[in-house]
Amino acid sequence: GRKFVVGGNWKMNGSKAMIGDILKFLKEGQLNSETEVILGVPAIYLDYVKSSVPANIEVAAQNCYKVDKGAFTGEISPLMLKDIGINWVILGHSERRQIFGESDELIAEKVAFALENGLKVIACIGETLEEREAGQTEEVVCRQTQAIAEKITDWSNVVLAYEPVWAIGTGKTATPEEAQTVHKAIREFFAKNVSADVANSIRIQYGGSVSGATCKELGKQPDIDGFLVGGASLKPEFVDIVNARA
Ligand code: 13P
Repeated sequence: GRKFVVGGNWKMNGSKAMIGDILKFLKEGQLNSETEVILGVPAIYLDYVKSSVPANIEVAAQNCYKVDKGAFTGEISPLMLKDIGINWVILGHSERRQIFGESDELIAEKVAFALENGLKVIACIGETLEEREAGQTEEVVCRQTQAIAEKITDWSNVVLAYEPVWAIGTGKTATPEEAQTVHKAIREFFAKNVSADVANSIRIQYGGSVSGATCKELGKQPDIDGFLVGGASLKPEFVDIVNARA
């Protein structure tokens, strides 16, 4: 079976005080040990969170670059993450794609380089509202996945996060059926273009306005293996989302 995996993407939020509050509810909450929990933390707080988080929770960067070092002002490399004990990175988030202009190809290069350097990757894909309304959802998520498939062969350290852009930060969650349809299509993409084994083993998270109220039904869908949570990951209800399958 695929282990349920829930990520909390803090985005550009937090302060030492706020992190103290988050760690408090995570320590006090009973987190289902069957669920893998990963916190996506702003780079500047990675070391701080890593040193104070309970051992059953993993810590991820929200981005990293595609080379090991050099004249790339403002960037961080996978080697630096490994150096401070970080084992995960979120790549290709729609905010990176849309606000910072990251292309399918750049994201694929980053995924490949992060994996080569021993990081595990949450790779994000998802269509915009315009693309959904034009009936292009499956085409878009397959194109984004294909770009990565052209650069890597081993998917064992990759979690895919399907995050429809229209559902992110809007309070407009995809229905369980809408999400399941796309997750199934992504798995079929893997079966056809990568291998039956990867299709069966890759974990696909849903992201986009996941809340304590919506997580249970979403979590029952056969091809949904966890969540990538934004806003609600800053609040105590994140514990309920981690425990969606409990
Ligand atoms: P929200 O849960 O705030 O909609 O954000 C989802 C997201 O982008 C997680 O990466």
